[in-house]
Amino acid sequence: MIPPPPVPGDPLDREVEEFCARHRLSELNREVDARPRFPRELFQALGTARLLGLTVASSRGGRELPPTRAVRVLFRLAFHGGTMAAKLSLQPEFCSILSTLGASDEQRATYTRVVRGENLVGNQITEPEAGSDLGSLATLANPVEGGYTIGGTKSQAAFATEAESAIVLARTPGSGRHALTAFLVPQKLAGIARSTVQDHGERWMGRGTVVYSSVKLPVESRIGPEGGALPALRDELRRERAFLAAIYLGVAWSSWHEAVEYVGSRETFGNRLADRQAVSFPLVEDRVRLESAWRQTEVVAAALDDGRATDADTAMLKWFAGEVTITAVEHAMQFHGGAGYSNELPHERRLRDLRSARLAHGTAEIAHVIAARALWPAPGEGKRHLGAPRSAEP
Ligand SMILES: Cc1cc2nc3c(=O)[nH]c(=O)nc-3n(C[C@H](O)[C@H](O)[C@H](O)COP(=O)(O)OP(=O)(O)OC[C@H]3O[C@@H](n4cnc5c(N)ncnc54)[C@H](O)[C@@H]3O)c2cc1C
Repeated sequence: MIPPPPVPGDPLDREVEEFCARHRLSELNREVDARPRFPRELFQALGTARLLGLTVASSRGGRELPPTRAVRVLFRLAFHGGTMAAKLSLQPEFCSILSTLGASDEQRATYTRVVRGENLVGNQITEPEAGSDLGSLATLANPVEGGYTIGGTKSQAAFATEAESAIVLARTPGSGRHALTAFLVPQKLAGIARSTVQDHGERWMGRGTVVYSSVKLPVESRIGPEGGALPALRDELRRERAFLAAIYLGVAWSSWHEAVEYVGSRETFGNRLADRQAVSFPLVEDRVRLESAWRQTEVVAAALDDGRATDADTAMLKWFAGEVTITAVEHAMQFHGGAGYSNELPHERRLRDLRSARLAHGTAEIAHVIAARALWPAPGEGKRHLGAPRSAEP
């Protein structure tokens, strides 16, 4: 493959490459993995370079790129800079409901600050008793004079102790299973306790638990109507999943290249490793899988461009890209021998980072649930196109 070829005359490719080199991302990736911390300076630099909010409207400081263009930029960012910079550049994407549903001045201003790299907003959906099954979320927002009091425990949240504010998904008393409400919650309010856990990979994210004990919120902190968060979040997820696929593939492509180069020069028993079919065949196969996943990313991005992308297509793309990526990086690690297993080379860290593809933003199994339900709708739902948006899937 064939990474996405530069668009003729497009200065963005060169800009991304220079950004990654200037900020010495290879070293930074290694450093924050060994001593986990949130790379605030990188987040700010991405904002200054206008690499946050690739698809965000230019009136909000974004680049207003169509998804077909954004996936190419994300691929390149991941190829040159790893998962960290690329995922950070998606931050405004992860809180886009501030822009699509957000009505208050504060919510809109917060969104603009995210795009500038001045404000980190977490997403707090998962709870200890409910992850994939959003209908079981228990965090409760009780209406009181002038606003709400919110109580509950959010777990596994990225930037648990680092975010300035978070989008918190809760239910109001008597709401239906999927009638969830989103709130923008400053994280330093009285009644909030935050802590982190140590993760397998992507340690810079500082995932953890946030406990809300009768936290008072003004009514303006509600994002959109009561019970109306899920359709907007589902919209956001469709885009996120396609963008994540591009990021996974950029990272894997980088490991694949390094492996091809290495096995072409390393000799054992008087021959190049590349001359052993046990080594060359898996790499040849990886190329086909990575390239197929990239082509599929382009197809789904084009569907996003014109509003045809479905839950099933984006969920299965993320799954497929995640799987081929994990396999390719694992091969790169293996064929670098013992050194590949150490932190002298990037493959073992990349593999740990990419392992989250099977869990975050919808698990591998839930992707299949979504795709299967689109193929075989429940009785009474009627036959729909593969993955046509539905209102009550996980
Ligand atoms: C790196 C990372 C970052 C994350 N960031 C955030 C964040 O910022 N905010 C946030 O709120 N959450 C975050 N999460 C949490 C993530 O969204 C959840 O882990 C995910 O939704 C799964 O929920 P769960 O952990 O409760 O697992 P469960 O839903 O309990 O699932 C456990 C296992 O069972 C499988 N399973 C569940 N239901 C079914 C079914 N119907 N059919 C088949 N298999 C099923 C799952 O696929 C999984 O393998 C993050 C997770 C990771 C790994």
